[in-house]
Amino acid sequence: MRSYVSKQVKQLKPSGIRRFFDLAASMDGVISLGVGEPDFVTPWSVCEASISSLERGHTSYTANAGLMELRKEIVFYLQSHFHVRYDAQSEVIVTVGASQALDIAMRAVLDSEDEVIIAEPSFVSYAPLVSLAGGRPVAVETSIEHEFKLQADQLENAISPKTKALLLCSPNNPTGSILNRKELEEIARVVKKYDLLVIADEIYAELSYDEPHCSIASLEEMRERTILVSGFSKGFAMTGWRLGYICAPEELTQAMLKIHQYAMMCAPTMAQYGAIEALQNGQEDVEHMRKSYRRRRNYIVESLNQIGLDCHMPGGAFYVFPSIARTGMTSEEFAERLLMEERVAVVPGSVFGKGGEGHIRCSYASSMEALQGAIVRMQRFMERNCRK
Ligand code: PLP
Repeated sequence: MRSYVSKQVKQLKPSGIRRFFDLAASMDGVISLGVGEPDFVTPWSVCEASISSLERGHTSYTANAGLMELRKEIVFYLQSHFHVRYDAQSEVIVTVGASQALDIAMRAVLDSEDEVIIAEPSFVSYAPLVSLAGGRPVAVETSIEHEFKLQADQLENAISPKTKALLLCSPNNPTGSILNRKELEEIARVVKKYDLLVIADEIYAELSYDEPHCSIASLEEMRERTILVSGFSKGFAMTGWRLGYICAPEELTQAMLKIHQYAMMCAPTMAQYGAIEALQNGQEDVEHMRKSYRRRRNYIVESLNQIGLDCHMPGGAFYVFPSIARTGMTSEEFAERLLMEERVAVVPGSVFGKGGEGHIRCSYASSMEALQGAIVRMQRFMERNCRK
Protein backbone atom coordinates (compact mmCIF):
# COMPACT_ATOMS: atom_id res chain seq x y z
CA MET A 1 0.00 0.00 0.00
CA ARG A 2 1.30 3.48 -0.76
CA SER A 3 1.83 6.09 1.94
CA TYR A 4 -0.96 8.64 2.06
CA VAL A 5 0.97 11.19 4.12
CA SER A 6 1.87 14.37 2.26
CA LYS A 7 5.51 15.05 1.36
CA GLN A 8 5.39 18.26 3.33
CA VAL A 9 4.30 16.56 6.54
CA LYS A 10 6.79 13.73 6.02
CA GLN A 11 9.53 16.32 6.03
CA LEU A 12 8.45 17.78 9.37
CA LYS A 13 10.51 16.57 12.30
CA PRO A 14 8.59 15.66 15.46
CA SER A 15 9.13 18.11 18.33
CA GLY A 16 12.35 17.34 20.18
CA ILE A 17 10.68 18.17 23.49
CA ARG A 18 8.35 15.19 23.30
CA ARG A 19 11.10 12.58 23.43
CA PHE A 20 12.26 13.83 26.83
CA PHE A 21 8.74 14.12 28.20
CA ASP A 22 8.01 10.54 27.17
CA LEU A 23 11.25 9.31 28.69
CA ALA A 24 10.69 11.25 31.94
CA ALA A 25 7.07 10.03 32.16
CA SER A 26 8.25 6.42 32.09
CA MET A 27 10.50 6.92 35.16
CA ASP A 28 9.74 7.25 38.88
CA GLY A 29 10.86 10.09 41.13
CA VAL A 30 11.60 12.57 38.36
CA ILE A 31 11.60 16.31 39.14
CA SER A 32 10.54 17.97 35.95
CA LEU A 33 11.77 21.40 34.96
CA GLY A 34 10.73 20.48 31.44
CA VAL A 35 7.15 21.57 31.12
CA GLY A 36 6.14 24.92 29.69
CA GLU A 37 2.99 25.53 31.67
CA PRO A 38 1.97 27.08 34.98
CA ASP A 39 1.89 24.86 38.06
CA PHE A 40 -1.08 26.88 39.34
CA VAL A 41 -4.62 25.76 38.67
CA THR A 42 -6.94 28.24 36.99
CA PRO A 43 -8.42 30.77 39.47
CA TRP A 44 -11.65 29.33 40.83
CA SER A 45 -13.83 32.32 39.87
CA VAL A 46 -12.89 31.63 36.23
CA CYS A 47 -13.89 27.98 36.58
CA GLU A 48 -17.15 29.02 38.23
CA ALA A 49 -18.02 31.43 35.44
CA SER A 50 -17.50 28.65 32.94
CA ILE A 51 -19.57 26.15 34.97
CA SER A 52 -22.30 28.74 35.34
CA SER A 53 -22.39 29.26 31.56
CA LEU A 54 -23.05 25.53 31.16
CA GLU A 55 -25.74 25.63 33.83
CA ARG A 56 -27.41 28.45 31.94
CA GLY A 57 -27.40 26.33 28.79
CA HIS A 58 -24.77 28.24 26.80
CA THR A 59 -23.65 25.17 24.92
CA SER A 60 -23.93 26.28 21.30
CA TYR A 61 -21.43 27.91 18.90
CA THR A 62 -20.57 31.56 19.37
CA ALA A 63 -19.96 34.05 16.56
CA ASN A 64 -16.93 32.95 14.51
CA ALA A 65 -14.80 35.71 15.97
CA GLY A 66 -15.94 34.89 19.51
CA LEU A 67 -18.44 36.32 22.00
CA MET A 68 -18.75 40.06 21.51
CA GLU A 69 -18.61 40.56 25.29
CA LEU A 70 -15.25 38.77 25.41
CA ARG A 71 -13.88 40.69 22.42
CA LYS A 72 -14.83 43.94 24.14
CA GLU A 73 -13.04 42.82 27.30
CA ILE A 74 -9.93 41.91 25.27
CA VAL A 75 -9.97 45.36 23.63
CA PHE A 76 -10.34 47.08 27.01
CA TYR A 77 -7.58 44.92 28.54
CA LEU A 78 -5.09 45.57 25.73
CA GLN A 79 -5.80 49.27 25.80
CA SER A 80 -5.53 49.66 29.57
CA HIS A 81 -2.50 47.40 30.04
CA PHE A 82 -0.48 47.74 26.86
CA HIS A 83 -1.77 50.97 25.26
CA VAL A 84 -2.82 49.49 21.96
CA ARG A 85 -6.32 49.97 20.55
CA TYR A 86 -8.37 47.57 18.47
CA ASP A 87 -11.95 47.53 17.28
CA ALA A 88 -13.88 44.68 18.92
CA GLN A 89 -16.15 44.22 15.91
CA SER A 90 -13.60 43.99 13.11
CA GLU A 91 -10.10 43.56 14.56
CA VAL A 92 -10.25 40.74 17.14
CA ILE A 93 -10.65 36.97 16.81
CA VAL A 94 -10.90 34.63 19.79
CA THR A 95 -8.88 31.53 18.91
CA VAL A 96 -8.13 28.04 20.14
CA GLY A 97 -5.02 29.08 22.03
CA ALA A 98 -2.21 31.25 20.77
CA SER A 99 -1.25 28.14 18.78
CA GLN A 100 -4.21 28.46 16.44
CA ALA A 101 -3.72 32.21 16.28
CA LEU A 102 -0.18 31.68 15.00
CA ASP A 103 -1.42 29.14 12.47
CA ILE A 104 -4.09 31.40 10.96
CA ALA A 105 -1.68 34.34 10.91
CA MET A 106 0.83 32.38 8.81
CA ARG A 107 -1.79 30.98 6.50
CA ALA A 108 -3.43 34.35 5.95
CA VAL A 109 -0.28 36.23 4.99
CA LEU A 110 2.16 33.82 3.38
CA ASP A 111 2.39 33.12 -0.32
CA SER A 112 4.60 30.32 -1.54
CA GLU A 113 8.27 30.86 -0.62
CA ASP A 114 7.63 34.07 1.33
CA GLU A 115 10.25 34.31 4.03
CA VAL A 116 9.58 34.78 7.73
CA ILE A 117 12.46 35.78 9.95
CA ILE A 118 12.56 33.98 13.28
CA ALA A 119 14.95 34.87 16.07
CA GLU A 120 16.30 31.57 17.39
CA PRO A 121 16.44 29.88 19.83
CA SER A 122 12.65 30.01 19.53
CA PHE A 123 9.40 28.29 20.43
CA VAL A 124 9.40 24.93 18.63
CA SER A 125 6.21 25.55 16.62
CA TYR A 126 7.28 28.63 14.69
CA ALA A 127 9.34 27.15 11.86
CA PRO A 128 6.97 24.21 11.24
CA LEU A 129 3.95 26.54 11.13
CA VAL A 130 5.69 28.77 8.57
CA SER A 131 6.57 25.72 6.45
CA LEU A 132 3.07 24.26 6.67
CA ALA A 133 1.69 27.58 5.41
CA GLY A 134 4.00 27.32 2.39
CA GLY A 135 6.51 29.92 3.60
CA ARG A 136 10.20 29.64 4.35
CA PRO A 137 11.48 30.12 7.90
CA VAL A 138 14.72 32.08 8.06
CA ALA A 139 16.50 31.66 11.38
CA VAL A 140 18.57 34.43 12.89
CA GLU A 141 20.79 33.21 15.67
CA THR A 142 20.70 35.31 18.82
CA SER A 143 23.40 34.88 21.42
CA ILE A 144 24.05 34.97 25.14
CA GLU A 145 26.26 38.02 24.54
CA HIS A 146 23.05 40.02 23.90
CA GLU A 147 20.96 37.95 26.33
CA PHE A 148 19.37 36.26 23.29
CA LYS A 149 17.74 39.50 22.14
CA LEU A 150 17.41 40.05 18.41
CA GLN A 151 19.62 42.94 17.33
CA ALA A 152 18.38 45.42 14.71
CA ASP A 153 21.48 44.96 12.53
CA GLN A 154 21.07 41.17 12.62
CA LEU A 155 17.50 41.60 11.43
CA GLU A 156 18.56 43.95 8.65
CA ASN A 157 21.23 41.51 7.45
CA ALA A 158 18.70 38.66 7.23
CA ILE A 159 16.22 40.57 5.05
CA SER A 160 15.90 39.52 1.40
CA PRO A 161 13.48 40.61 -1.34
CA LYS A 162 11.33 37.65 -0.29
CA THR A 163 11.06 38.61 3.37
CA LYS A 164 7.47 39.25 4.35
CA ALA A 165 7.36 39.07 8.11
CA LEU A 166 9.26 38.99 11.35
CA LEU A 167 8.06 36.61 14.03
CA LEU A 168 8.89 38.08 17.40
CA CYS A 169 8.36 36.58 20.86
CA SER A 170 8.73 38.72 23.97
CA PRO A 171 8.84 37.65 26.77
CA ASN A 172 10.56 34.74 25.13
CA ASN A 173 10.26 30.99 25.19
CA PRO A 174 12.83 29.40 25.70
CA THR A 175 15.22 32.14 26.88
CA GLY A 176 12.96 34.25 29.13
CA SER A 177 14.43 37.40 27.57
CA ILE A 178 12.27 40.45 27.06
CA LEU A 179 12.65 43.26 24.55
CA ASN A 180 12.14 46.63 26.20
CA ARG A 181 10.71 49.70 24.50
CA LYS A 182 14.08 50.98 23.29
CA GLU A 183 15.07 47.59 21.85
CA LEU A 184 11.69 47.22 20.17
CA GLU A 185 12.00 50.71 18.69
CA GLU A 186 15.28 49.75 17.05
CA ILE A 187 13.68 46.65 15.56
CA ALA A 188 10.61 48.64 14.49
CA ARG A 189 12.84 51.08 12.61
CA VAL A 190 14.16 48.25 10.41
CA VAL A 191 10.70 46.71 10.04
CA LYS A 192 9.31 50.01 8.73
CA LYS A 193 12.28 50.65 6.47
CA TYR A 194 11.71 47.32 4.68
CA ASP A 195 7.91 47.41 4.89
CA LEU A 196 7.66 44.16 6.86
CA LEU A 197 4.85 42.71 8.92
CA VAL A 198 5.47 41.72 12.54
CA ILE A 199 3.76 38.71 14.03
CA ALA A 200 4.17 39.47 17.73
CA ASP A 201 3.71 36.51 20.07
CA GLU A 202 2.98 38.11 23.44
CA ILE A 203 1.55 35.08 25.19
CA TYR A 204 3.82 35.74 28.20
CA ALA A 205 2.98 39.48 28.41
CA GLU A 206 1.63 39.21 31.97
CA LEU A 207 4.84 37.54 33.14
CA SER A 208 7.26 40.43 32.92
CA TYR A 209 9.13 40.89 36.20
CA ASP A 210 11.29 43.98 36.21
CA GLU A 211 9.49 46.43 33.95
CA PRO A 212 6.02 46.65 32.41
CA HIS A 213 5.57 44.65 29.21
CA CYS A 214 5.87 46.74 26.05
CA SER A 215 3.92 45.63 22.98
CA ILE A 216 5.54 46.39 19.63
CA ALA A 217 2.03 47.20 18.34
CA SER A 218 1.95 50.20 20.70
CA LEU A 219 4.94 51.87 19.02
CA GLU A 220 4.48 54.65 16.49
CA GLU A 221 3.21 53.44 13.09
CA MET A 222 3.49 49.80 14.17
CA ARG A 223 -0.14 48.94 14.85
CA GLU A 224 -0.92 48.83 11.12
CA ARG A 225 1.92 46.38 10.46
CA THR A 226 1.52 44.09 13.48
CA ILE A 227 -0.49 40.97 14.13
CA LEU A 228 -0.71 40.64 17.90
CA VAL A 229 -1.01 37.09 19.25
CA SER A 230 -1.82 36.43 22.89
CA GLY A 231 -4.06 34.37 25.14
CA PHE A 232 -4.95 33.02 28.52
CA SER A 233 -2.71 29.95 28.84
CA LYS A 234 0.29 31.36 30.68
CA GLY A 235 -0.58 34.53 32.64
CA PHE A 236 -4.01 33.24 33.69
CA ALA A 237 -2.96 29.58 34.16
CA MET A 238 -5.45 28.33 31.57
CA THR A 239 -3.43 26.06 29.26
CA GLY A 240 -6.08 23.33 29.13
CA TRP A 241 -8.86 25.76 28.25
CA ARG A 242 -7.35 26.29 24.80
CA LEU A 243 -8.15 29.95 24.50
CA GLY A 244 -6.21 32.74 22.86
CA TYR A 245 -6.81 35.74 20.65
CA ILE A 246 -5.39 37.58 17.70
CA CYS A 247 -5.70 41.28 16.92
CA ALA A 248 -4.72 43.09 13.74
CA PRO A 249 -5.91 45.80 11.36
CA GLU A 250 -9.24 44.98 9.75
CA GLU A 251 -8.00 43.69 6.37
CA LEU A 252 -5.70 41.16 8.03
CA THR A 253 -8.24 40.18 10.67
CA GLN A 254 -10.92 39.52 8.07
CA ALA A 255 -8.46 37.39 6.08
CA MET A 256 -7.66 35.34 9.19
CA LEU A 257 -11.34 35.09 10.05
CA LYS A 258 -12.00 33.37 6.72
CA ILE A 259 -9.60 30.58 7.66
CA HIS A 260 -10.84 30.45 11.24
CA GLN A 261 -14.49 30.12 10.22
CA TYR A 262 -13.83 27.22 7.87
CA ALA A 263 -11.24 25.41 9.96
CA MET A 264 -12.51 26.00 13.50
CA MET A 265 -15.94 27.72 13.48
CA CYS A 266 -15.26 29.26 16.89
CA ALA A 267 -13.31 28.75 20.11
CA PRO A 268 -14.93 26.67 22.89
CA THR A 269 -17.97 28.52 24.26
CA MET A 270 -17.61 27.64 27.95
CA ALA A 271 -13.95 28.65 27.87
CA GLN A 272 -14.94 32.02 26.42
CA TYR A 273 -17.27 32.63 29.38
CA GLY A 274 -14.44 31.78 31.76
CA ALA A 275 -12.13 34.19 29.93
CA ILE A 276 -14.57 37.09 30.39
CA GLU A 277 -14.34 36.54 34.15
CA ALA A 278 -10.53 36.23 33.92
CA LEU A 279 -10.24 39.64 32.26
CA GLN A 280 -12.83 41.34 34.46
CA ASN A 281 -11.72 40.04 37.84
CA GLY A 282 -8.55 37.98 37.44
CA GLN A 283 -5.90 40.65 37.97
CA GLU A 284 -5.25 39.85 41.63
CA ASP A 285 -4.68 36.20 40.80
CA VAL A 286 -2.38 37.10 37.93
CA GLU A 287 -0.41 39.39 40.21
CA HIS A 288 -0.14 36.70 42.88
CA MET A 289 1.24 34.20 40.30
CA ARG A 290 3.58 36.79 38.83
CA LYS A 291 5.11 37.54 42.22
CA SER A 292 5.52 33.86 42.94
CA TYR A 293 7.29 33.23 39.60
CA ARG A 294 9.51 36.24 40.26
CA ARG A 295 10.68 34.79 43.60
CA ARG A 296 11.37 31.46 41.96
CA ARG A 297 13.23 33.10 39.08
CA ASN A 298 15.51 34.93 41.50
CA TYR A 299 16.16 31.71 43.42
CA ILE A 300 16.88 29.51 40.40
CA VAL A 301 19.12 32.02 38.62
CA GLU A 302 21.24 32.53 41.72
CA SER A 303 21.44 28.79 42.43
CA LEU A 304 22.30 27.78 38.86
CA ASN A 305 25.10 30.34 38.73
CA GLN A 306 26.45 28.99 42.04
CA ILE A 307 26.65 25.41 40.77
CA GLY A 308 28.42 26.28 37.52
CA LEU A 309 25.49 26.60 35.13
CA ASP A 310 26.06 30.18 34.03
CA CYS A 311 22.82 31.95 33.49
CA HIS A 312 21.62 35.48 32.67
CA MET A 313 18.71 37.00 34.60
CA PRO A 314 15.74 36.70 32.23
CA GLY A 315 13.12 39.44 32.45
CA GLY A 316 10.02 37.35 31.80
CA ALA A 317 8.11 34.11 31.06
CA PHE A 318 9.04 31.21 33.36
CA TYR A 319 12.20 29.89 31.77
CA VAL A 320 15.91 30.15 32.39
CA PHE A 321 18.38 29.17 29.70
CA PRO A 322 21.72 28.41 31.38
CA SER A 323 24.92 27.55 29.58
CA ILE A 324 26.28 24.02 30.00
CA ALA A 325 29.65 24.97 28.50
CA ARG A 326 31.56 23.99 31.65
CA THR A 327 30.56 20.33 31.17
CA GLY A 328 31.73 20.09 27.56
CA MET A 329 28.59 18.05 26.76
CA THR A 330 26.07 18.60 24.02
CA SER A 331 22.70 19.73 25.31
CA GLU A 332 21.12 16.37 24.34
CA GLU A 333 23.77 14.46 26.20
CA PHE A 334 23.46 16.74 29.24
CA ALA A 335 19.66 16.43 29.38
CA GLU A 336 19.73 12.67 28.89
CA ARG A 337 22.43 12.03 31.49
CA LEU A 338 20.86 14.43 34.01
CA LEU A 339 17.59 12.53 33.63
CA MET A 340 19.17 9.08 33.89
CA GLU A 341 21.68 9.85 36.65
CA GLU A 342 19.77 12.35 38.80
CA ARG A 343 16.17 12.15 37.61
CA VAL A 344 15.81 15.81 36.72
CA ALA A 345 14.11 16.61 33.42
CA VAL A 346 15.20 19.68 31.45
CA VAL A 347 14.97 20.41 27.73
CA PRO A 348 18.09 20.43 25.54
CA GLY A 349 18.62 23.86 23.99
CA SER A 350 19.25 22.32 20.57
CA VAL A 351 15.53 21.62 20.09
CA PHE A 352 14.88 25.37 19.95
CA GLY A 353 16.95 25.87 16.82
CA LYS A 354 20.06 27.89 16.06
CA GLY A 355 21.92 29.23 19.07
CA GLY A 356 20.23 26.78 21.43
CA GLU A 357 23.08 24.26 21.51
CA GLY A 358 25.27 24.65 24.58
CA HIS A 359 22.25 25.54 26.74
CA ILE A 360 19.34 23.86 28.46
CA ARG A 361 15.88 25.21 29.16
CA CYS A 362 14.65 24.92 32.74
CA SER A 363 11.13 25.94 33.58
CA TYR A 364 10.62 27.36 37.06
CA ALA A 365 6.85 26.90 36.92
CA SER A 366 7.26 24.28 39.66
CA SER A 367 6.95 24.50 43.44
CA MET A 368 9.84 25.99 45.42
CA GLU A 369 10.41 22.54 47.02
CA ALA A 370 10.70 20.95 43.58
CA LEU A 371 13.13 23.67 42.47
CA GLN A 372 15.25 23.22 45.60
CA GLY A 373 15.26 19.45 45.12
CA ALA A 374 16.27 19.84 41.49
CA ILE A 375 19.14 22.17 42.42
CA VAL A 376 20.52 19.65 44.95
CA ARG A 377 20.52 16.95 42.28
CA MET A 378 21.95 19.23 39.60
CA GLN A 379 24.71 20.32 41.96
CA ARG A 380 25.71 16.67 42.44
CA PHE A 381 25.66 16.20 38.69
CA MET A 382 27.82 19.28 38.14
CA GLU A 383 30.32 18.21 40.82
CA ARG A 384 30.85 15.00 38.88
CA ASN A 385 30.84 16.53 35.42
CA CYS A 386 32.05 20.12 35.61
CA ARG A 387 35.44 20.67 33.97
CA LYS A 388 37.24 22.88 36.46
N1 PLP B 1 3.70 30.84 21.97
C1 PLP B 1 4.67 30.50 22.83
C2 PLP B 1 5.93 31.30 22.83
C3 PLP B 1 4.52 29.43 23.72
O1 PLP B 1 5.50 29.13 24.58
C4 PLP B 1 3.31 28.69 23.68
C5 PLP B 1 3.12 27.52 24.55
O2 PLP B 1 4.04 26.98 25.13
C6 PLP B 1 2.33 29.08 22.77
C7 PLP B 1 2.55 30.16 21.93
C8 PLP B 1 1.03 28.34 22.68
O3 PLP B 1 0.13 28.79 23.64
P1 PLP B 1 -1.37 28.32 23.71
O4 PLP B 1 -1.50 27.40 24.89
O5 PLP B 1 -2.17 29.57 23.94
O6 PLP B 1 -1.73 27.66 22.44
